[in-house]
This record gives sequence, structure tokens and C-alpha cells, in this order.
Amino acid sequence: MKQATIKSFLFSTSALLLLLTVNAFVDDRSIPAADTRPNIIIIITDDQGYGDVGFNGCSDIQTPNIDKIAANGVVFTQAYVTYAVCAPSRAGLLTGRYQDRFGYSRNPLYKPNDPNQGLSLEETLLPQLLQQHNYTTMAIGKWHLGAHEKYRPWNRGFDTFFGFLGGGHRYHPNEYTIANEDSAKNEAESYKTKLTRNGVPVDETMYITDAFSREAVNFIKRSSKQPFFLYLAYNAPHAPLQATESYLKRYEHVKDTKRRTYAAMVSAVDDGVGVILATLQEQGIADNTIVIFLSDNGGPKQDNASDNGHLRGGKGTLFEGGIRVPFAMQWPMRIKSHTTYTKPVSSLDIFATIADELHITSQVKKPLDGVNLLPFINGLKNEAPHNYLYWRQYDQKRYAVLHASGLKLHLSDTSKMLFNVSSDIGEHQNIIQQEASNSSMLLAKKNEWEAQMIPPQIWGLNQEKQYQFGKKP
Ligand code: CA
Repeated sequence: MKQATIKSFLFSTSALLLLLTVNAFVDDRSIPAADTRPNIIIIITDDQGYGDVGFNGCSDIQTPNIDKIAANGVVFTQAYVTYAVCAPSRAGLLTGRYQDRFGYSRNPLYKPNDPNQGLSLEETLLPQLLQQHNYTTMAIGKWHLGAHEKYRPWNRGFDTFFGFLGGGHRYHPNEYTIANEDSAKNEAESYKTKLTRNGVPVDETMYITDAFSREAVNFIKRSSKQPFFLYLAYNAPHAPLQATESYLKRYEHVKDTKRRTYAAMVSAVDDGVGVILATLQEQGIADNTIVIFLSDNGGPKQDNASDNGHLRGGKGTLFEGGIRVPFAMQWPMRIKSHTTYTKPVSSLDIFATIADELHITSQVKKPLDGVNLLPFINGLKNEAPHNYLYWRQYDQKRYAVLHASGLKLHLSDTSKMLFNVSSDIGEHQNIIQQEASNSSMLLAKKNEWEAQMIPPQIWGLNQEKQYQFGKKP
């Protein structure tokens, strides 16, 4: 797209945005009655590659149940998370805001005794908002948004939590050798803590993925009479690669042992999704339950044998392979089955979609960075949901800016590259010379965006030394 086209595109979309903003202020729609409000389930996997679900063309791993979410609703083919690793991406998802606005820009050091090492308490998490509207809320699985008591899920809007607080975990209960999460000294030790229910250690016996699925089903069964919100954060298929014999058996034909174990781990998640969808049917609540499936960042091929399909790069990079993720959503009452949506969307949109559908956006204290996706996927709005999407890797001084046309600028201290991901999904052809004026325009947009962001407020995983010296993050 030439600059003139971008300008007119911008003009029409900013005029529309203005209209939408004005509308938001005069939104006097009443809040839907409790018994008509949708239940909400967000299923997030960890380090699963873009190409590792059937609905994105995966051929060696079967994901029939995850694919049902796609078939029952919409697949977003160009969906992004807000960061290329776990914790910042989850912070963006659960606040609906760029995590750089509040400095949750790193994977945190595991410091259960440090009251400053967590997601700012000035931010409202989606479950906090929903709790105020009488949703029953539960988080299951990986937290990663602060290990200190004041940041733990039950103090951030979740009535119930079952899982662990760090960035990952071992999968077999005989390896849970650390009695409680406060005595784990670092991230590696946090992988071996006992799982807890609201902080009370439990004696788990099941493979972790199956345990999380069991908890999800039990929660749905006991909450089916009222609106509920379930945040199901599987740590699979994040390393370490560990599966059970029964799941491995399904992939005996896969020669690469790493890929075989990875496939088995994804299969365990898929079985879990299957029982969850079946439970919604049994309870008669499937039609008015939103089920969202996504991965928290792209696959790190070297670590877990994941596959990002045709995308360049993987976890930790701002190439498409690091930030574009499998993303599908069903809500039979509102979304037509077998819908495909191809314009860029973001995990930031999840919060905004839910808040707007519940008519409670005006009660959100800070401006959201996402938009309600429903009018876009239902064809009521034809423009792009986002003119621009932004990424910042503060410590590496790397940035990316994506324009709705597909132009994507990569910036670092040592390089500048421009790709058109609409025509060149693999980011092979650097067109920065040919598109100099668009590059300058994208650079200006990035600077404008960054002026609203703040530096990291927490220490990162590889900053133990700075932390010990008591410097400020
Ligand atoms: Ca991750």
C-alpha cells in the first residue's frame, strides 16, 4: 500500500474510531441479566507453534477437539499476542492493555517473598471486572503474574485457583518434591513445587495436563447455573518434554523422539478440550458459552520441537513465528460456525470483546488497547480492527510495528527491516529501500506509541545479579 492509500485508510478509520469512542461514552445499554450472560472459557497453551493445530494445517499431530472450537466458530488466521514469551503475553491478555504500559515487560524472577515482583496492582484483570458482575471465576494451571501473596490469583479476581505460580512445571507428580511455593528459591525450583488449591498444597496423582482438565470439568459442572469465567492455562507443551505412555503410544510412528513427546503433550491438551466441550453440551450451556483457544507465544523449535509452519523465527523473536499464534473462538449463539477471519487481531481484543458484549466497558478504569471482535467477524464492520499493532522488547531494544495493510517494520540498534506479511508471510523480502516513506511513517508511529509506555518495573529471569545488588529494575 502506498503512503497516500495508507493516509486515506487512516483518515477513514480514525473518523470511525472517534465515532466509536463517542458511542462508548453514550452507551446506555443495560447490563444483560445474569441468566443471559455468556459463560467464558479461555484456554491458553504454552509455547505451542502456529502450525501445531489441525485448523492451521498440522498434519502429524491430531487435534480433533481443538479443531471443533474452530469449526463451531471462527479461526483467526492472523492473530497476535503482545509479546514473544510467556509472562508479558499473559499480562497483555488479562489486562487488555499493552503490558509495557505498566512495565510487566519481562519473564519475572521467581521471588515469592518480594512484594514488588508482580503485575502492578493498579491494573484491573479481566476476572476482577467479571467478579464485580457476579461471575464465578477460576484459574487453573500456570500463573506467572507474580509469586508474592498479593499478586496470587485469589487476590487478582479469581475465586479459586488450582495450579502453580511460576513460569512452568514438571508434569509427573512424583517430581513435585518441594512442599510449598514459598520455599522454592528460584524459577527452576518452582517447577517442582506441589500444586496448590488457593495456596494449600494438594497431593496430586495425575499427569499435570489431565489434572488441569479434570479441575476444569469439575468447575464447569459446579458452576453451570450462573455465568462463570474459567481461565485454563495449560503449561503444555512448554518444556520439559514429558508425556505418559498412553499419549506417547498415539505417536509411535513419529521418528523424532522430541517431536513425538511434544505431539503426545498436545494430544493430552486436546483430550482435555474434548471433555470440556462435551461437558458444556451435557450441561446444556454450550450455546451461550464463549470458548477461546490460543497459545501464549510462538513455538521454540529447539526447546520443544514445535512447528510454526511457514512463519519465520519462533519464541523470543518478533518475527511472525514468535508472536503470531493459533487462535480460535466459538460462541454458537453469536458467531456463525466455520467462519474464517483474516485481518490482524490481538489477544488484547479478548478483554475488550467480553467487556463490550457485557456492556460494561464504561466501568473499566483504564483505556483498553483492544476492540470488540464480534462486529468484525460478523461482517458488520469491514475495516481492520487495528490500524497498528506494536511490540517492544525492552532489554534487547527491539521493536516491531504492524500496519493493517501487512507492512511490518522491525527495529533494533543494528538493523531496520520492512516486510509485507500479507504477501510475504515468511518475512523473506526486506523491502525497506522500496518503501522508505512508509518505513518512516511506521517509525514515527512506534515513537508515538512508545512515549506512552514505561520501563520494566520487574526483574527478568536472567537478572538475578542486578536483583541481588538491589538495583531498581
Ligand atoms: Ca510461553
